[in-house]
Amino acid sequence: MSRIQQLSSSVVNKIAAGEVIERPANVVKELLENSVDALSTRVDVDIVEGGAELIRVTDDGEGIHPDDILLAISNHATSKIRTAEDLFFIQTMGFRGEALASISEVSHLVIRTRQHDSNEGIELDVNCGERVDPKPCGCPPGTKIEIRNLFASTPVRRKFLRTKSTEFGHISDQFTRVALANPRLHMTLRHNGKTVFDLPPSDRLIDRLSLFFGKGVTDHLIWVESEVNDVRMSGYVAHPSHSKSSRKWQHLFLNGRWFQDRSIQHALTESYRGLLMVGRQPVSFLFVDMPPSAFDVNVHPTKIEVRFVDGQQLYRQVLSMVRTQFLSMDLDSEMKLGK
Ligand code: ADP
Ligand code: MG
Repeated sequence: MSRIQQLSSSVVNKIAAGEVIERPANVVKELLENSVDALSTRVDVDIVEGGAELIRVTDDGEGIHPDDILLAISNHATSKIRTAEDLFFIQTMGFRGEALASISEVSHLVIRTRQHDSNEGIELDVNCGERVDPKPCGCPPGTKIEIRNLFASTPVRRKFLRTKSTEFGHISDQFTRVALANPRLHMTLRHNGKTVFDLPPSDRLIDRLSLFFGKGVTDHLIWVESEVNDVRMSGYVAHPSHSKSSRKWQHLFLNGRWFQDRSIQHALTESYRGLLMVGRQPVSFLFVDMPPSAFDVNVHPTKIEVRFVDGQQLYRQVLSMVRTQFLSMDLDSEMKLGK
């Protein structure tokens, strides 16, 4: 009983899956990030029964080399970093190289992928860790990943899934985050065969914002931007008359990825001081860009929180950017939109 044993890689992957993959929406997030990393221009997401039956993500990105296909589902295998040093220069979403490994351990995963310069694709089928040898297949360039029966091998986790519509709601939130961060990406989302979103590519963030939130929100947004040292910020904040009762409306993106940060949220609230009623929260869509060496993404398994080298300076920059913009305009008069 008290002797020490090495865990098998299958068990290790199941444990990792527990950290990263709690529900179908986490799978969707990982797959979407991979499609973005693969420089896709179009991504289609198909969901059946809240993701418990099927999650399918199809992209037109660069695809996976046939010789690498098995590596794609091995633990700690990634095309995105090589050395520990790279961790601090990482520009892409991925790098832990454990998403597909974890997912393949707790579902039935089928990958079909083809690189653009190749005339046939390759298919890999893994059912709860049991893999069939990869075989050639016909498919368009890009990658299609299908995940069926999520958590089939971990019934306890499957029991924790909420109703299909709740799970789909979480999927839709993840989809929205990626869509807002990548307006040039043509994205679609279908649930049980019905199209929920079909987002044409656009160069303008505001187009995408209005598709999601409607003119009722976008007509009251104010463009803000600022650059201090290597830190660039830009985006929209809402006119104080269009506040919300929840912080859910504060969307933050760091180098193209949605993230959460209490300190920046606090700075936002602080910049509206005296302009909002008690309990009201500002609306914002704020994009922060900075060199990867100025923060550490490797502090949270799903990478939704990061640690900044200089959080204080970020706080001051948000505060002064929004304040300066408000002071330069007559908040009571008709609003003028920026870009
Ligand atoms: P990570 O993204 O952290 O590298 P993943 O497990 O998500 O780890 O993916 C493993 C590898 O599989 C990636 O590094 C990438 O090379 C490849 N890959 C996964 N999805 C795609 C995709 N949609 N298009 C091209 N390559 C992909
Ligand atoms: Mg990944």
